[in-house]
Amino acid sequence: MTAVAEIMDYDEVLDRFDPVLGLEVHVELSTKTKMFCGCANEFGAEPNTQVCPVCLGLPGALPAVNGKAVEAAIRIGLALNCQVAEWCRFARKNYFYPDQPKNFQTSQYDEPIVFDGHLDVVLDDGETFRVDIERAHMEEDTGKSLHMGGATGRIHGADYSLLDYNRAGVPLIEIVTKPITGAGERAPEVARAYVTALRDLLRALNVSDVRMDQGSLRCDANVSLMPKGASEFGTRTETKNVNSLRSVERAVRYEMQRHAAVLTSGGSIVQETRHFDESTGSTSSGRPKETSEDYRYFPEPDLVPIAPSREWVEELSQTLPELPWERRRRAKEDWGLSDEELRDLVNAGALELIAETVEAGAAPGDARSWWVAYLSQQANTRGVELADLAITPKQVARVVALVGEGKLTNKLARQVVDGVLDGEGEPDEVVAARGFEVVSDDSELQKAVDEALAAQPDVADKIRGGKVQAAGAVVGSVMKATKGQADAKRVRELVLKACGQ
Ligand code: ADP
Ligand code: MG
Ligand code: ZN
Repeated sequence: MTAVAEIMDYDEVLDRFDPVLGLEVHVELSTKTKMFCGCANEFGAEPNTQVCPVCLGLPGALPAVNGKAVEAAIRIGLALNCQVAEWCRFARKNYFYPDQPKNFQTSQYDEPIVFDGHLDVVLDDGETFRVDIERAHMEEDTGKSLHMGGATGRIHGADYSLLDYNRAGVPLIEIVTKPITGAGERAPEVARAYVTALRDLLRALNVSDVRMDQGSLRCDANVSLMPKGASEFGTRTETKNVNSLRSVERAVRYEMQRHAAVLTSGGSIVQETRHFDESTGSTSSGRPKETSEDYRYFPEPDLVPIAPSREWVEELSQTLPELPWERRRRAKEDWGLSDEELRDLVNAGALELIAETVEAGAAPGDARSWWVAYLSQQANTRGVELADLAITPKQVARVVALVGEGKLTNKLARQVVDGVLDGEGEPDEVVAARGFEVVSDDSELQKAVDEALAAQPDVADKIRGGKVQAAGAVVGSVMKATKGQADAKRVRELVLKACGQ
């Protein structure tokens, strides 16, 4: 094969082939501790400060399963309409890699904790596409290799590598779809919509912070093509660790176009992993794909099997939170949205965020306007997904409350939001640090009003004479004097009152 892959025009791909997809999503659970030891599970700590003999694989160290991680796995399975295993085990997946100190990954193999489910995915035009789920299983994350000295941070061109084992042993759930057929030209869109729906679901379950940019949600996209009308799947490639929703869509589309070009020119597709390059929108060859024999899986002898009681499963099923599709239906009813408005909010990734903002106490109208207007703008300029903005629905609700209490004007509220987005802390901290408290003390305002009237005697006379629209100029100078920190409506009232209106 040539180094620069030729790609086929997308419409031509669809004339000749049917795509088949398989999506593997890894999600890091936000449990307090790791999967098999008591080390803290937190992102961003100093390298190698959250490690112990168990997650470092030191001789004699014995693992113990994190019950909260098992609970999360079952809840995810239930939300995905899966069966929950009556009995299952962990398995060792053996391979050497520097970021894997034990020389094996503790995972599950042929006995996943949950299996055989589905997720209904809403496409951009509002149509629903059902994706069947093969299984979801529990495993642990690896550490991280940091390749130093090169320009790209990749191993090629690096002078040396460092290892950070803080992530080694963090609980992961891998969710694997059955082969997705019948999506046709919409395959790339289905892939993106599926990962979006899964992310929203995991967020609603509150099991992970699902940050694709930080790697707590990662997607491997398998793609193959079969000639139109064929029933046997073609050879797949697996594009690893695609780290944004948009990239999932682009990677699938690119692979479809590349496969088609290779297949029609008489070549064949090699089963391998591939890397997606965000800047070029293309993929490049990774490593040839191992078969499961290569991993010499065997049941983990240091851990007891897991046999979740039916009562526990039933209890978890009864206590699932409102799931995104239920929430959608209710939002539509409660907020009086049209199908189209609902779809726009869903497509903008705003619905969950608005719902959570409402849950945190904001009025639906306020919550909606913050997310679809100012915060959408901010997401745009900062080049991130709405949900990945560094502000939580709770914080937005707090800003709304501060405005409601008359402590912030809308203008200042936007600056407080900027502060939160820039990492300056909670809304109240930003208000305090930037000295934003609205001047709501009437005596102070009164003083500013009197001064403004004294400075513009002719305007004051006009107002006294009944020209109330002249009050605008006075309000303007009071706002200026208080650096925008006064409630303009209240100032206007005081101005009119001072002039006997
Ligand atoms: P691996 O161990 O290679 O990652 P998995 O079973 O975990 O294998 O995941 C493979 C994914 O690819 C699954 O989602 C599966 O449904 C899907 N898949 C299997 N065969 C094909 C194929 N020929 N084309 C596209 N996807 C496929
Ligand atoms: Mg896999
Ligand atoms: Zn540990």
